[in-house]
Amino acid sequence: MTVQEALAFGVSQLADAGIDSAARDARRLMAHALGVGPDRITLHLRDELEAGPEAVYFADLSERAERRPVSHLVGGRDFYGRWFSVNEDVLDPRPETETLIAAALELTFRDVLDLGTGTGCILLILLAENPTATGIGVDVSAAALRVAKRNADALGVADRCALVVSDWWQGVAGQFDLIVSNPPYIAAAEMAGLAPELGFEPRMALTDEKDGLSAYRIIAGGAGAHLAPDGMLMVEIGHSQGGAVAAMLQDAGFVDVQIRTDLDGRDRVVMG
Ligand code: GLN
Repeated sequence: MTVQEALAFGVSQLADAGIDSAARDARRLMAHALGVGPDRITLHLRDELEAGPEAVYFADLSERAERRPVSHLVGGRDFYGRWFSVNEDVLDPRPETETLIAAALELTFRDVLDLGTGTGCILLILLAENPTATGIGVDVSAAALRVAKRNADALGVADRCALVVSDWWQGVAGQFDLIVSNPPYIAAAEMAGLAPELGFEPRMALTDEKDGLSAYRIIAGGAGAHLAPDGMLMVEIGHSQGGAVAAMLQDAGFVDVQIRTDLDGRDRVVMG
């Protein structure tokens, strides 16, 4: 079987499984099996698919058809122009999160705290883009922090960040001029209607098992003690939560509270 034939088979298998991105996913799995970049596949279309890559590709196709995310099968994903290791212990970085990163990069900061750092994608990009900044990433999951550590090493910023197991503020000391978080914000009642892929991600990274707002209550409540004078708090939100979270920050004494929209024009970040 040639690479091209195997690709065609994969696309139809994934499409039959109801996957909208069947063609793109099959290409990414093939690239992974061949050990080449996805943009190099066209150079190999007529090659005979050898036994080793063939076994990897067909095993990955079956798992993808069961809706396991591509990032878990290939070990990571591109995010904000960099490669991040991803596994089932962390939230897969989402394009929406680039809104928060872009807003944060407009600021000047030296000390960053990322609450619920997961892959570390927010914190580590902020440090990579600001060579003089230092930061702390906390997460309640030690397994998540092992992934963040791998990413910190890969991005060359491990010497400027500490990764600490902490349930929100519990293990946090000191003050920061930028505090960021992309907390679990899906309400428990909305979990049943989500794409099957989310079933492979850590549930505690997605939902607070309540109304979707409880992490913001905790974050707003503790920020006063850890935000430097003139510091900024920035949180990602679900698109319907802008008003509620902005009001929460105002009630907690924040000033200059603003909402930013994502590329789809939906509320995505609240800051103050
Ligand atoms: N900070 C990580 C991200 O934005 C993890 C967020 C989470 O697990 N809720 O992807």
